[in-house]
Amino acid sequence: MTHTASQLDSTHFDVTIIGAGINGVGLFRELALQGVKVLLIDRGDICAGASAAPSRLIHGGIKYLETGEFRLVAQSTFERNLLLRNAPHLVRPLPTIIPIHSWFGGIVPSLLRFMGRKSKMADRGVLVTEIGMQIYDFLGRRARVMPRHKLSLGRKMRRNWPHMAPRVIATGRYYDAAISQPERLGFECVEDALSLNLGCAVKTYTRVEGFTDGRLTLSDLKNQTRQSVTTDLIVNAGGAWIDQVNRDIGLSTRYIGGTKGSHLVLDHPELYRELNGQMVYFGTPDGRICLAYPFMGHVLVGSTDIPVQDPDQAHCSEDEERYMIEMLAHLFPGFSFSAGQVLYRYCGVRPLPASNTDDPGAISRDHIIHTDYTGTTPVLSLVGGKWTTFRGLAEEVADKSLALLHRKRRVSSRERALGGGRDYPSASMRPSWLRSLASRHSVDLERATALFERYGTTAERVAAYCARSPDTALRSLRDYTRNEILYVTTEELVRDAGDLLFRRMPIALSGCLSHAVIVEICGVMAEALYWSTETTEKQIEQNWTRAVKEHGLPENPAKAQAA
Ligand SMILES: Cc1cc2nc3c(=O)[nH]c(=O)nc-3n(C[C@H](O)[C@H](O)[C@H](O)COP(=O)(O)OP(=O)(O)OC[C@H]3O[C@@H](n4cnc5c(N)ncnc54)[C@H](O)[C@@H]3O)c2cc1C
Repeated sequence: MTHTASQLDSTHFDVTIIGAGINGVGLFRELALQGVKVLLIDRGDICAGASAAPSRLIHGGIKYLETGEFRLVAQSTFERNLLLRNAPHLVRPLPTIIPIHSWFGGIVPSLLRFMGRKSKMADRGVLVTEIGMQIYDFLGRRARVMPRHKLSLGRKMRRNWPHMAPRVIATGRYYDAAISQPERLGFECVEDALSLNLGCAVKTYTRVEGFTDGRLTLSDLKNQTRQSVTTDLIVNAGGAWIDQVNRDIGLSTRYIGGTKGSHLVLDHPELYRELNGQMVYFGTPDGRICLAYPFMGHVLVGSTDIPVQDPDQAHCSEDEERYMIEMLAHLFPGFSFSAGQVLYRYCGVRPLPASNTDDPGAISRDHIIHTDYTGTTPVLSLVGGKWTTFRGLAEEVADKSLALLHRKRRVSSRERALGGGRDYPSASMRPSWLRSLASRHSVDLERATALFERYGTTAERVAAYCARSPDTALRSLRDYTRNEILYVTTEELVRDAGDLLFRRMPIALSGCLSHAVIVEICGVMAEALYWSTETTEKQIEQNWTRAVKEHGLPENPAKAQAA
């Protein structure tokens, strides 16, 4: 596949997209499909900003019903249903449970919120929840693939949730979806675009230094080279950094008022068992909504919503960690919780529109597209949006871009499967698909299944690559092999060990990261990317520091265990 070139072959692009979060990569793919020549750049890796930090829900957003955002819910549930079909390797149905504490709670606050007035929603009773789920099912009926909602009361409910707080009198269950590795889907959008349209290019670890006389100056942060390109249209998909990116290209804007949100990956086998494949989506005593669901053998818990001024300084604080654990303990008082159960944490900044409200939860999660001009070049700034709706947003922005370029749409992306979701075998065909994969590439069924779980049908390519030369399991991580690391390093636009450890592969997210893993994987990557000893040591140090500082890994694991 095409790699991130250190020097671009071309010096003119129809469209240049700044920011390779999901908004940027979604548009990159959509425009590539229309035959437009696009350059995508990011100062870091693909989907390394907010797009690597979501709750991983592909959802309609049932809580947006309270603010009357029916259009957003209808669009989001439709896109959710499409993603379940187009990316089945990463997006799966998620039964979602709402714990209910009363019969009639929340009627007045929800009416007030619905009318745009401020009101705290600490309780959503049976009536409010049932009405909400009815509307949610109705709005999500287009291209529906999942069952309708259900209410559970009394002993039946208690049988399913023996450890839930006694004050919970009922549960509502409806269906949404979750995406295990959004970072990987982001990469697959880029891969799709590059294979469709040879005129497109991507440059990661590259930032825009300025825009003068119609030329964008780009600076490659890895090899310190510079290049300039001309473009007919700039799309600013800089997420929480949109105003900074605009400043770099000569515009003064105040579009963003970001809020940070943090998540924890908890090692809690009892809670994992109680959840039984379902998410609890629960109101907290302070009027917020938190969630917990089974994730890669552990429990994913989220999230906070706190206004931040500088997105580069956002990290998951001890207070946020304590808050999320306390909220879980409030719902499951019989279980014990402690900071020692936190395997991994992550934080991201929602690129929300600037707002004066003191209730971040009330800011709309819908998107806004601003149009400005720098000189005579139009600039579209993409504010907000959600992972769930990225394709719909890309479609809308692509239509705007095509109009500005005086071009016509050629095809729709609605029915187009993504990455490892292409030619995905149905549940009944899966056993024979896996047996055939195993026998063609001389691996056992367990290994074939692990590759399929990680890469979907791209497992075929990965297994073929791994079979080309003798392969061995990593010493520090027996589920992964040396050749698999080489495949991802050389074929998936990787420029830094962090791209592979934190995004292309579910190593960090599944709680498997350790110093030994980083050392071994950097050693393998060094061969493929011709790193010097000095570069390899720097990669090890930088990524370990990041694992400790940003993701809460114990600096000295032996000491942490003893404590
Ligand atoms: C805590 C949290 C929970 C969420 N949960 C969900 C959820 O469950 N479901 C859902 O659908 N959505 C969810 N979202 C929303 C969703 O993740 C975001 O709306 C989406 O990822 C935003 O994408 P983006 O491309 O606009 O921004 P980002 O992903 O932040 O991308 C912006 C990119 O711009 C780049 N950039 C910045 N400055 C420059 C520069 N000068 N030059 C080049 N590049 C630059 C950055 O490096 C970054 O990669 C959540 C978000 C958060 C933070």
